[in-house]
Amino acid sequence: MGMSVKKSKEKSAKGWSASGGKKSASKSVKSKGEKIAKTYSVLRGMRDILPKEERYWKKLYHSIEDLGQYFQYGRIETPLLEEASLFVRSVGKGTDVVDKEMYLFEDKDGTKVCLRPENTASVVRAYIGNGLWNQSQPVKLWYYGPMFRHDRPQAGRYRQFWQVGFESLGSSDPSVDAELILIAYDLYKDLGLSVTVRLNSLGIPEERERYRNELVSYYRSKRSYICGDCKNRLNRNPLRLLDCKAEECRETKDNAPQIIDYLGSESKNHLMKVLEYLDAVEIPYQLDHALVRGLDYYTHTVFEFYVTDIEGGAQSALGGGGRYDLLAEQLGGKPTPACGFSLGLDRIVSAWRENLTKTNSEVPREKLDIYLAQLGEEGRRVSLRLLNDLRASGIKVGFNFSKSSLKAQMELADSAKVQFVLIIGQKEVQDKTVIIRDMESGIQEVADVKKVEGLVKRKLGRA
Ligand code: AMP
Repeated sequence: MGMSVKKSKEKSAKGWSASGGKKSASKSVKSKGEKIAKTYSVLRGMRDILPKEERYWKKLYHSIEDLGQYFQYGRIETPLLEEASLFVRSVGKGTDVVDKEMYLFEDKDGTKVCLRPENTASVVRAYIGNGLWNQSQPVKLWYYGPMFRHDRPQAGRYRQFWQVGFESLGSSDPSVDAELILIAYDLYKDLGLSVTVRLNSLGIPEERERYRNELVSYYRSKRSYICGDCKNRLNRNPLRLLDCKAEECRETKDNAPQIIDYLGSESKNHLMKVLEYLDAVEIPYQLDHALVRGLDYYTHTVFEFYVTDIEGGAQSALGGGGRYDLLAEQLGGKPTPACGFSLGLDRIVSAWRENLTKTNSEVPREKLDIYLAQLGEEGRRVSLRLLNDLRASGIKVGFNFSKSSLKAQMELADSAKVQFVLIIGQKEVQDKTVIIRDMESGIQEVADVKKVEGLVKRKLGRA
């Protein structure tokens, strides 16, 4: 019976594990009329991030944390679950995020809630609700965490994905827009990624409205030349017409009216000042009149970041942001000019790793200081105690208590490239000693177990 159960388990694991693309996430497996536990796979569009990727995420997090500290942004953590109308009112009806992609459900008390699809609206809610407008302005915040959008999964597009965002609330100065672009640019630079900044201005609502009307009447006159998606966009969200990548729409799009011609002098001035600041810090940018971003709340500056050597397909944007001067008011707060960005961490990690592979480099694994090998049950007990003492001294120790052969443990020590191995066998337990082996010279010495901590510290130059 053991065999047949094993066989069917293997079969089920093969059929249901890796893809994550099957409709159902679990399956019961029967073996010779007997039902065994069903297997589960990750939900479509979701994924596990395993320890082998951890060092990339960790380094990325540290770089972000350093930038936050340097530019004086405080970390904010908001709940994953919010009232759904927060996003309907901010991101806006007619956007894909709100109309199609929210993980929406009714809470036990009947409140309509959703898993956050983005974090700017939550940050603004927190700014208003916690009275942060009472503090000295601008209030500068950064966040890091998962977002949820029920989009069609594909390479670089997940239903749960990670974003980092920086938001500066309370100042309308164009230097704030430039500061934010600089922070994001520096993050990419720290990772060795060369990015292109694309930039546009969406002006103020009146200007955008005038432009939108012009765009609609232009596209109506070209209705027979545009794709089905664009026909829909024309009714639902006309600015997104400029996002279309279909070849049949290219000429129409290229000849479409441009928003810059509809901006008043203040909006133009704001844009010019942002560009001057970017010139001052030598950040290259491209003005892109087709850049509109998907969400309703933007005013004035909008920007996106693309890896320089990847063709700008929709899913290759590594991040984006812009100014949202009216959002706080829309959400019931005082008028609060603000600007921010969010970057897609899954895509950053992937572009970064691709880049490292190309240049034949990698993020180094965390180095162990020493290795601890043991023999027998008593040896393991003493080792566990010693391991804990060494941890308290900040010494990183490699070990594997499930290995009982010394040879196997020495091989592990060898591959961890440590200089010293501590060995505790039965004799050492009895004598209350530890063998310290220098892996380079092969010389071994015997030390009193009580003195080993100090001795190791000295050998590692930490005493
Ligand atoms: P957005 O504010 O929607 O432009 O998102 C900012 C960044 O988050 C994008 O530029 C992407 O890098 C990333 N992002 C957005 N949606 C997804 C997704 N479904 N999967 C992975 N990354 C995403």
